Amino acid sequence: MSTPLGNPYQAAVPPANATCDTRGCRSVAKVRIIIPRSRLEADGIDHSNDPPIFDACGLHWPRIRDACLRNGHPVVDTTGDLRELAADFTGWSIFYSDGARLYASARVKGSRQSTTLDAYLIGQLRAQLEQAIPTRDAA
Ligand SMILES: [Zn+2]
Repeated sequence: MSTPLGNPYQAAVPPANATCDTRGCRSVAKVRIIIPRSRLEADGIDHSNDPPIFDACGLHWPRIRDACLRNGHPVVDTTGDLRELAADFTGWSIFYSDGARLYASARVKGSRQSTTLDAYLIGQLRAQLEQAIPTRDAA
């Protein structure tokens, strides 16, 4: 997978006990950014002191993601494929709000009630959808 933007970083689910690595923040981490070591030499900058992983809470994740993008590193969600998720849950509209947060909105025919789920990663949203979907609809 090549991208025009540069060397992608990977977004993954952090361990349950992980906390945000942003200075002064100790909130529960929602997203772990993995910086592939093999990529670090490609831009000619010494990254030997960079942490290979960075955990971010929900508050800091959008800012950290923006900073990665500004530095030419798109953040690739490694927890799933968005098109696959949309294909598996056709009753839901799945979309990114601002690129940093995912939403799934139930398409309920003839009902004013709708359910909206949100997550930071595709895998997290999939887990929520699997819980939300009635088992009788399972293929
Ligand atoms: Zn934080």
